[in-house]
Amino acid sequence: MKLCVVGTGYVGLVAGTCFAESGNDVMCVDIDQKKVAELQNGKIPIYEPGLEELIRRNTANGRLRFTSDLGVAVKESLVCFIAVGTPSDIDGSADVRMVLQATADVAGAMPGYRVVVLKSTVPVGTADRVRETMSEHTLHPFDIVSNPEFLKEGAAVDDFMKPDRVVIGGNSERALSLIKELYAPFVRTENPILVMDNRSAEITKYAANAFLATRISFVNQIANLCDKVGADVADVRRGIGFDRRIGHYFLFPGVGYGGSCFPKDVRAIIRTAEENGTDFSLLKSVEAVNEQQKHLLVEKVRAYFGNDLHGRKFAIWGLAFKPRTDDMREAPSVVIIDQLLAAGAEIAAHDPEALAQAQKVFGDRISYHRMNYDTLTDADALLIVTEWNEFRRPDFQRMRELMKSPLIFDGRNLYEPAEMRQEGFTYYPVGRPAVVQS
Ligand code: NAD
Repeated sequence: MKLCVVGTGYVGLVAGTCFAESGNDVMCVDIDQKKVAELQNGKIPIYEPGLEELIRRNTANGRLRFTSDLGVAVKESLVCFIAVGTPSDIDGSADVRMVLQATADVAGAMPGYRVVVLKSTVPVGTADRVRETMSEHTLHPFDIVSNPEFLKEGAAVDDFMKPDRVVIGGNSERALSLIKELYAPFVRTENPILVMDNRSAEITKYAANAFLATRISFVNQIANLCDKVGADVADVRRGIGFDRRIGHYFLFPGVGYGGSCFPKDVRAIIRTAEENGTDFSLLKSVEAVNEQQKHLLVEKVRAYFGNDLHGRKFAIWGLAFKPRTDDMREAPSVVIIDQLLAAGAEIAAHDPEALAQAQKVFGDRISYHRMNYDTLTDADALLIVTEWNEFRRPDFQRMRELMKSPLIFDGRNLYEPAEMRQEGFTYYPVGRPAVVQS
């Protein structure tokens, strides 16, 4: 099938590449000409495991192409996916202007029938707005299919290739069966393609993210309670996770969720509820808990060192909002580092993939290190903010030798407190008993 993907970001680039990998002819379109030029020259603008090899293979065999010429892409394609950003507006609602612009552009360029697939996360009712907008720009027939994306950054290729389920919403049999055909290679293990109306598909995406965010805020508050009463959240987590109604997933306490999806999608569904006369008070609490949680590590640092951090140096391991991505959007590290800098501290930071993105956020206010150990020289403490695998079994002796004092504030519970005691570290995890060396 010939298709185009409008918006070549984390979602569009992965979706376009995976559709090419399954034998389709795909044109990825972006208005960012620099990004398109980079992709045409084989340079991948984001870090996503496994993606580079797939892009190389599919560009080499001619099935995957990149362009900033939307007109050409739409002319050649029967199906046009829209995967542009839908950032938070100032009132928390999702800003769908880029979606409306992109779909108007598609309508203006299409020479005949086209299926427009909304892959961006869009508030309920957007498919109807897109239908109206497109009707203003074309007399050709078209169908709108809602197809929210559930991939996780850091495992995006795997998630796209083996989705738990595919959700498609629409009312045209012709369009729905085309999209089912496109997804057939990815659901050979019988994972379902769920067909519903546009509005239900739109809500499904927000409901999924809001539920996952709720689990995180829930376990973060349980962890904070454990901290107060001397319980161990690692045991509590196991204790509830074996209940099959609850399960083990998404019950890891930390420094709060971030990224380009959970924060904005929680805000957006709260706004949608408000606009429809419902108070989604549960999600307002989820959001408030999350904001508070981003302050947790710095509160622990202040409790240890006092409020004035002038003359103190902190090593930070992990800047991206989660491991296996370079995405810094709404990363808790931004709040943590800003607070430490405001209190006068010096920051030496390491992240395996996000240093270039982090530089855009912090500029020359902090120092950046390719090697995690290099951050530790004369550091008063190490703060672990993102749970990259390579941080899980470090050389503790080397760390002790480099640091001014053996002190770790672990926002991701990477280490066992008993082991840290043996290794001679003072250790503050989240919701687990701290280790204080005598
Ligand atoms: P992104 O910001 O990484 O990429 C969006 C791209 O769209 C950018 O490259 C931008 O230049 C391009 N663009 C904007 N307007 C355009 C236009 N008119 N024509 C062509 N290109 C245009 O965004 P993303 O993270 O890929 O997210 C895209 C959508 O998918 C959002 O709605 C997001 O909520 C949703 N989503 C994201 C994830 C994720 O993990 N990132 C997961 C599921 C769903």
